[in-house]
Amino acid sequence: MARILIIEDNPTNMQLMVYLLNAFGHTTLEATDGETGLAIAQHAPVDIILCDLQIPRLDGYEVARRIKMDPELKDLPLIAVTAYAMVGDRDKVLSAGFDGYISKPINPEIFTEEVEGYLSANRSDLHDTHPESYMD
Ligand code: MN
Repeated sequence: MARILIIEDNPTNMQLMVYLLNAFGHTTLEATDGETGLAIAQHAPVDIILCDLQIPRLDGYEVARRIKMDPELKDLPLIAVTAYAMVGDRDKVLSAGFDGYISKPINPEIFTEEVEGYLSANRSDLHDTHPESYMD
């Protein structure tokens, strides 16, 4: 089970994400603006950060920039959750420092699986740094 920081200013989206992730046993921490989200990430241990792009105070791109500049936080999976669906936005999101992208509207059937996919991708990266992985 993971500790998941959600930075999202839309109460309906926040409620849905919290509900779905809690239902699957994950712990959620919530922030409704970028500055608060960044402060939580710096002070509470989290396994993954889900971040809306259009949020007050610091937007998602600025949150990404600061997280990826922070040696303590840069290796956390940072996932944009956003309504932008136009071709090219995915590249913009990834080049801003996000490790992945989940599009809105949130699909309750697959949302938790998508989030867990980013968690396990990160864990297997860590596992691959152990020499035993290469022994056979
Ligand atoms: Mn928003």
